[in-house]
Amino acid sequence: AQMRESRVRKTKTVCTYCGVGCSFDIWTKDRKILKVEPQMEAPANQISTCVKGKFGWDFVNSSERLVKPLIRKGDAFYPVEWGEALDYVAERLSDIRGEYGPDAIGYISSSKCTNEENYLMQKFARSVMGTNNIDNCSRYCQSPATYALRQTMGYGGDSGSIEDIAAADLVFIIGANPAESHPVLSTRIRQAHKRDDQKLIVADLRKNDMAERADQWLQPKPGTDLVWIAAVTKVLIDRGWYDSTFVAERVRHFEEYRASLQRYTLDYAEEVTGISKEQLIRVAEMIRDANRMCLLWAMGVTQHMGGSDTSTAICNLSLITGQVGRLGTGVYPLRGHNNVQGAGDFGCAPDVLPGYASVFDEKVRAEYEQAWNVKLPDRRGLDNHQMVERIHEGRLKAMYLKGEEIALVDSNANHVGKALEKLDFFVVQDVFFSKTAQYADVVLPACPSLEKEGTFTNTERRVQRLYKVLEPLGESKPDWQILMGLANRLGADWNYQHPGEILAEAVSLTELMAGITYSRLEGYDSLQWPVSDDGVDTPLLYADRFAFDDGKARLVPVDWTPPLQLPEEYDLHLNNGRMLEHFHEGNLTYRVKGLREKVPDTYVEVSGSLAEERGIRTGSRVRLVSPYGAVNVSVVVTDDVKGKELYMPMNTSKAEEAVNFLTSSHHDQHTHTPAYKEIAVRMEVLDVQ
Ligand code: SF4
Repeated sequence: AQMRESRVRKTKTVCTYCGVGCSFDIWTKDRKILKVEPQMEAPANQISTCVKGKFGWDFVNSSERLVKPLIRKGDAFYPVEWGEALDYVAERLSDIRGEYGPDAIGYISSSKCTNEENYLMQKFARSVMGTNNIDNCSRYCQSPATYALRQTMGYGGDSGSIEDIAAADLVFIIGANPAESHPVLSTRIRQAHKRDDQKLIVADLRKNDMAERADQWLQPKPGTDLVWIAAVTKVLIDRGWYDSTFVAERVRHFEEYRASLQRYTLDYAEEVTGISKEQLIRVAEMIRDANRMCLLWAMGVTQHMGGSDTSTAICNLSLITGQVGRLGTGVYPLRGHNNVQGAGDFGCAPDVLPGYASVFDEKVRAEYEQAWNVKLPDRRGLDNHQMVERIHEGRLKAMYLKGEEIALVDSNANHVGKALEKLDFFVVQDVFFSKTAQYADVVLPACPSLEKEGTFTNTERRVQRLYKVLEPLGESKPDWQILMGLANRLGADWNYQHPGEILAEAVSLTELMAGITYSRLEGYDSLQWPVSDDGVDTPLLYADRFAFDDGKARLVPVDWTPPLQLPEEYDLHLNNGRMLEHFHEGNLTYRVKGLREKVPDTYVEVSGSLAEERGIRTGSRVRLVSPYGAVNVSVVVTDDVKGKELYMPMNTSKAEEAVNFLTSSHHDQHTHTPAYKEIAVRMEVLDVQ
């Protein structure tokens, strides 16, 4: 009986699904997951989780897990031993680099992986392979917010903590749907909003769960957010409802900024956005009356051709109202994936090293060159978008990708698929044989989060440890071990025994995270960067100064970029995003029986009026066609969308139904984040049912 008892273990982990970063204990018996038990001391969630965190783990025992390396021969894949697989990858990468140079290979890291693994991935690309061609999936989501924050306030992260949002008396959510994308965070907002003194404004095309309970719901025309934000900001300035003391003491470029708003009158905003002048004034009054306002935004803002500029407009609004640097105020670009913040923090981007140090800064490069004992590239690398284009041009010959379903989640999937077909050599490292893996030459079996140690960084810059709950399944390995095996075959001499040693090396090279150590992150302990040498962290940014040499924030004038216009035959705007029960493309959650039974497939939401006009109902099958592709999908008729607006979740159990077969390659001008939200389609009825 005692032996049986001792097989039951309780291990602390951090959720692998979203940027809220819930942590909890997982009870297991051998490989069986008995229960998920959140604890009061969990900093982001306390005793809450959502349905994915609570029930979303069975995929780790799926019979579809990759358990052995695979090598392609002709059209088929054959299992091989690790030694053979890594020798082959090393040889091919080495040959391609020899023939075409280091910049002919691209590397894509993963927000599913730990900070330590992301650090090693960029170290591998830069120090072993000699290129800055390294990126991660923040290119698909919040790169525009990071860009905006870094040019206005200094740091590319949420300015406060999730729990601080409760202290706000006005919460303003723009282009985000936390009830489905950041569920535990939305629970906290909902609880706080029940207080009489906390108001909620939501701006979203769709009447999502938060919009439904908002005091004001703004429903702009697609792609027009910058216009109404600028108009509200202009009202605040023109009527003297801004924080002139804060602006005078802590912000630069006010006059240029004020002048740049001339065009954004209420009349213009009403015409462009469809939001009435009265409602815009009402919003301005609510901002005027708020002592503490938090601004939250996500992909409804960023995934546009003007995504960076709209993010900048939000930062500008926060600055002129002095709503930053105090408890209950601040800017929160909500991070989608569990560790998308960390992937960027640890340098998986073409222009920055860990801690956002520029690759163009000679002094920084010299430090890394000394630490890594190599000469580092000083050219800007390629981002995800550029890599795809360079493959089409025949200039990028090989790609090494870990934990990212690029064939489904990158925009314009047909275009991306054609690029992947053209690669001379393609390595995919993943937990499952993904859609992307079908294009690979070598597939390397990686472990999911439950089978490894490391740290994740959530949306509030909070670094937390995860401990190994289960042993790796079959011959799968943690990504850091795979990378080390490969690097050493290519001339490196890495000898990490434990991820803690990787983190120690990484933080020793960054000012931003200098004091983070595993011993300071024991159990449920966590640290929010910046963390000083002596371990003091910073839950609240900008209390005294902004992260520029002079300590002052910058107002940055921006202009509106009208959304993509397609020919009239594409008469329906197709919005897209997440759903509660599934995560991202769905490779993990559709392999969880309970979640798959709850929502077995993707669907398209259609308004009652459109359904009537086209003679369709819930369950009808339709074909959506854009200039870039087509998908067949089932209809759900709902009030959440209006008129000619459609909504389709990005998660899908059937690869051929993925929404990105419809989206385009248009992108944000500053960051190349795809304009996923700017697409129109036409609809053909296949089967009314
Ligand atoms: Fe928490 Fe997000 Fe995981 Fe849900 S998916 S448990 S909200 S971290």
